[in-house]
Amino acid sequence: MLEAHNMGLDSWVVAGGRPRVPGEPLNTPITAVSNFRRGGDLSYARGDGTPTIAAFEELVGGMEGGIATTFSSGIAAAAAVYATLSTGAVVVLPKGGYHGVEELAEDGATKGRWTTELIDLADTDAWIDAVGRADLIWLESPSNPMLTVVDLAPICTANRKPGNIIAVDNTFATSFNQRPLEFGADVVMHSASKFIGGHSDLVAGALVTNREELAAEFRTTRKVTGALPGALEAYLAVRGARTMAVRLERGQASAAVLAERLAASPHVDVVRYPGLASDPYHEVAKRVLDGFGAVISIDVVGGGPAADAVCDRIELISHATSLGGVESTMERRALGPDGLIRLSVGCENVEDLWSDLAQALDPG
Ligand SMILES: *Cc1c(COP(=O)(O)O)cnc(C)c1O
Repeated sequence: MLEAHNMGLDSWVVAGGRPRVPGEPLNTPITAVSNFRRGGDLSYARGDGTPTIAAFEELVGGMEGGIATTFSSGIAAAAAVYATLSTGAVVVLPKGGYHGVEELAEDGATKGRWTTELIDLADTDAWIDAVGRADLIWLESPSNPMLTVVDLAPICTANRKPGNIIAVDNTFATSFNQRPLEFGADVVMHSASKFIGGHSDLVAGALVTNREELAAEFRTTRKVTGALPGALEAYLAVRGARTMAVRLERGQASAAVLAERLAASPHVDVVRYPGLASDPYHEVAKRVLDGFGAVISIDVVGGGPAADAVCDRIELISHATSLGGVESTMERRALGPDGLIRLSVGCENVEDLWSDLAQALDPG
């Protein structure tokens, strides 16, 4: 049997989850089904999944080295981690992390389900302390949108409160650049809507864990909340992931070039990209990440109005939210400095991307 640990991740994303039966389709088919004939392992899709979902899970599980459960969105996946908490649990999560997860955490806190504490992602000592006393330690690295890189190793190996969970949102890094389970985290979360799908045409999410009892809990939560991915979405996620290695390779090579040029531009105040030698997280990133990713954040000179104008003038790059697609996208982000723009670098020619950025920053 083909197994992820016997090959490069770039081979696994091509080969993983594929049918291997003579005469069967080469690709994972879209199995549009709610229920199965009695006598087999599968009964009803909401509880048992489907062959297309199983393929998606084999693929993503292999990418991170654990057991995957996939969901209807990244947030549904995150919610399944929060659903493991008992009343009164202590949750520690990032200040300035992904807003949707913060909303989820604060919503539960308001309703008295748990208490939340927000910590600066760069404060490694505070996270180490949290690991000793909190029930859920929710990390995100590199973070959205400020690209703070977390030193995962000392945090994941710190003294633990027994039974607690360290979860890492690995959406920005991707499994190619960071594998949190190898550092000692319990759960990895992905929004497959981003780099895994890679074409801005689906919403889906995944959790991967190497703790079997947690995987079983995630399965149960998915069943009782009905948050399973649709057949088309699971198919598209697998289809998209086949090219993930080459997409990411291109995106991050171009991101490195663009980050250098943006840093030299008189129209840009600050560039945040962990690959830049001048970036505050460059040293941590070199230790933790195998690549610096395809997302750049910039603070343009002139603040909000200037950032709006750049987003209006951009032509090849799409002014749109989200990230991780073959098409480059940019948008202003509310969190952070006024002139903040997050740029997701896709697969276009890097010189065309630079020409577009240059004209948008300086229309002359
Ligand atoms: C998009 C995103 C999410 C949420 O995922 P959805 O698929 O939109 O629900 C979570 N974390 C990060 C870092 C993201 O970028």
